[in-house]
This record gives sequence, structure tokens and C-alpha cells, in this order.
Amino acid sequence: MNANLFDILARSITDAGATAIETPDGARISYGDLVARTGRMANALVALGVKPDDRVAVQVEKSVEAIILYLATARAGAVFLPLNTGYTAAEIAYFIGDAEPSLFVCDPARAADLTQAAEQAGARMVTLDAKGKGSLSDAAASAPSGFDIVLRDKDDLAALLYTSGTTGRSKGAMLTHGNLVSNALSLREAWRYTDKDVLIHALPIFHTHGLFVATNVTLFSGASMILLPKFDPERVFDLMARATVLMGVPTFYVRLLEDDRLNAETTAHMRLFVSGSAPLLAETHRAWRVRSGHAILERYGMTETNMNTSNPYDGARVAGTVGLALPGTEVIVTDPESGVELPQGEIGMIEVRGANVFKGYWRMPEKTAAELRANGFFITGDLGRIDDNGYVHIIGRGKDLIITGGYNVYPKEIEAEIDEIPGVLESAVIGLAHKDYGEAVTAVVVPTGSPALTEAAIVAALEGRLARFKQPKRVIFMDELPRNTMGKVQKNLLRDQYAGLYHK
Ligand code: AMP
Repeated sequence: MNANLFDILARSITDAGATAIETPDGARISYGDLVARTGRMANALVALGVKPDDRVAVQVEKSVEAIILYLATARAGAVFLPLNTGYTAAEIAYFIGDAEPSLFVCDPARAADLTQAAEQAGARMVTLDAKGKGSLSDAAASAPSGFDIVLRDKDDLAALLYTSGTTGRSKGAMLTHGNLVSNALSLREAWRYTDKDVLIHALPIFHTHGLFVATNVTLFSGASMILLPKFDPERVFDLMARATVLMGVPTFYVRLLEDDRLNAETTAHMRLFVSGSAPLLAETHRAWRVRSGHAILERYGMTETNMNTSNPYDGARVAGTVGLALPGTEVIVTDPESGVELPQGEIGMIEVRGANVFKGYWRMPEKTAAELRANGFFITGDLGRIDDNGYVHIIGRGKDLIITGGYNVYPKEIEAEIDEIPGVLESAVIGLAHKDYGEAVTAVVVPTGSPALTEAAIVAALEGRLARFKQPKRVIFMDELPRNTMGKVQKNLLRDQYAGLYHK
């Protein structure tokens, strides 16, 4: 049987007339159109020299055409490589130099800037803009719509996604057809997705969340999605009256909560709000429930593994946890030093195994061997624990662990205490080099504005609530925390910015 994800998708279509994608400007693409347009695009790719296993690198704005390009690449047996639209020419040169795609698709506005990088990587360059126009769509428009789906094994590569790489060089995670299909089917089941669903798609499509979770689950269900170019609260409020699902990063929910329109009435047509990619504050979960009557469903995954855990559809969606291991995925907690599995309830390194877990890092066998064990478990780099009910709690990234005076301090524990202090909006706790302690616990705090906060007041509030070694040595105030496009707080930037704080 063909394990090509496009073949499995095409076979699951029951109503070719049903809407697959809508756009805010009123375009409507049925499943039948989607298959035909994907065929044209696959023919265009082949005419441009793309062969099975070739990489197709893509740095374009979100559009229907970009989704078609992703599906057509799979259909042609090639490997889709999406790139963050924020990457500079130098970053693009690194990625395409490393991946050696045969084709590089970019926005026409950036073509001049990126020609050299494409030439050096040996890639042919074509263009596609935010409206789906460019030399690539011109080539597709005149191509025939029939195209035989290339035969793929479940272990063949479907996509190469570079990790966000907050430390060191970004690595290319090799995702197979089997990885993507198994995860889409497992989430479809877990979230009770059907062809009646209408997703508000407001996530970027260069990342696992928007590209695979949102797009694949919707298309594998015969459901439809309203493709927004970006997150826009105004549009989300309008669309909630006829949509059923929203998938977002925590910042979406924080932003929507700031709007008076959020209530049980405006969300009455919605059945599911999913959050992931960064921790959702328990406070946001509670506030959302109070205002809308819906419990946000938080899930946990990453580029290398697709989704691993999810709060249940039926049953308790517990704030501050990422839920239970998905069927077919094993989650264990191990000692970060020895790798030995820890007794239930203890904090350690989260490791996962299953059909969802990637094949390894592109051309980095040592990195692959260091993070993907021979027994199939992937060492996620996230610290966490599993409670008595099987719910996974994430404590933070392993590299954010602070070792001060020989003691381990988990920033999340300190952040939770600081966030309880009146006048604190949110906080990030980091370790900074210190000559006596090795690392000194340091708090970066975003105040709400009132009451006025001082460093002394925060230190005093934590006295008696945290052991002395956990208390911040210094508190820094900021207007907002640095976040990447997926809403993750970039602690590495904070560590760099304040590296010399204790060395003056
Ligand atoms: P990425 O590969 O960009 O998707 O980043 C994956 C990382 O995001 C994970 O290793 C976690 O550190 C973090 N992450 C994803 N989902 C969650 C979540 N629900 N709660 C906390 N952290 C999360």
C-alpha cells in the first residue's frame, strides 16, 4: 500500500464538493479543487526538475497556494522544507546550504536578495507571493491536473523542519510520511474531529503546529479551515459565530481575553479551543473557563515528535498540565544524568517513543545518536513529571534549569510564586553567572502597572514562601518578555542581555 500522506488524504475524501479551505476574501476551495490544483502543482514541480526525495525549500507568506505546494510536494514524493518568513538572507543561506534543495520558492519581493544563496546551494529559484501569484503558480496554472501519486514507504521523508535552535545551530528534523499520518489520525480521534468541523486557522504554516497539527488534522477529517494570513482578534471574533475549532499558541488566548467581547455567547458555536507550543498559564485557563464556559484543551509536542500528549476531550482538562500520552505514544521520565527511568511522580527528563517520533537530524548522525536512543526513545530536552492520574506536567526546558550553589532550581516553581504577587503580570526566572553561586537565580518581572512594584517588595513577598537558595538574588523589571512567533519566551535572549549583571 502507498504510505504517501497525500494518497491517504485523497482516499479519505468522501465529498469532493465539500469545502476544504476558505479565505477571508471569499475564495472557497473544495476537496475536488484541492486535489486538481495539487496535481497541477505536482506537475509544475516535476517540470522544474524536482525528483522524489529532493528537498523543496519554501519561504513564503501563508496562502492557499502555499498549502497546495506542501501537499503537491508530498504527492510528488519530495520533501517539504518550510522556512520562517522572518529569516534573513544569511539564515536562509545556512538552511538551504545545509539541506541542498533542488528548488527554492520565495516571495518575489525577496528574490533579488536571495538569488545568491539559492545559486550557492545549487537550487533553482521560483516565486510565490502572499496572494498566491508568482512564477511557480504561473507554471502550475498551465500544467495538467492529473498526476500519479508517487509511491512512498512510511519511513520515507515527507518534510524537513529546522528546529528553532535557541542554542547552537538549528537542526533539520526529518519527518516521515508515517510520522505525519499517524499523528494526524491520532489527533483526529483524540479531538473528535469530523467533516462538520470548521477550523479558524490563524497559525503560521512554517511550523509543526500550523502546518501539521492544524492543516493535516482538518484535511484528514474532511473538515474545512478558514485560512487567516495571521492571528487577528477582530477576525477571530467574527468567525467564531460559524467556526467550531480554534488552535492557538497561549498568546492568542491572552489577547482574546483582553477583549470584552469574549463571553459564552460569542463562543457558543465553538466546540474546541486547543493550545500548545508554549506553556499556557493556569491563570489563562481559569480565566477562559470563567468568561467563555469552555475549558481550553492543552497539548504538548515539538518539531521532532509531532504531538505527544493531550488533555482529554471527555474528562478533566487540567490547567497547568499537558494531559495524557496520546494512544500509540509512550511517555516516560528519566534521570537526566543516567537515563534510567525514574519512579512515577519524580521530576526528570521527558522521553517519548512512538510512530510520531522523527527519523533523526538531517546529516547530523552524532546529534541524532545523542538525542534519539537505539530503543526508539527521543530525549525531548523538557523536564517534567507524570502525576498519579497519568497527566504530564512540564517543568521547563532542561537547559533552563538553574544550578545555584550546587542546588537545582526549577524556574517554573519560582515563576509560579512570583506570578501570585499582586501587581505581577508574568515573570521569567533565569540563572546568570555568579562568582560565588555558579549561577544566581534572577527574576525578570513584567508588572501590570498597579500597584507599583519594587524589587524589595518582590523579595519580601517570597520570604517564607521559598527556600532561601531559590529566592531571586536580583529582580529586573521589563515591559514585556521577549517571545518568538510561536509565543515561547526566549530566555536565551534574557540570559545574554543580563549576562554581566553580577560581574560589575
Ligand atoms: P517546537 O519544536 O518549536 O514546537 O518547540 C517544542 C517545545 O515547545 C517543546 O519541547 C516544549 O519545550 C515547548 N512546548 C510545546 N508545547 C508545550 C506546552 N503545551 N506546554 C509547555 N511547553 C510546550
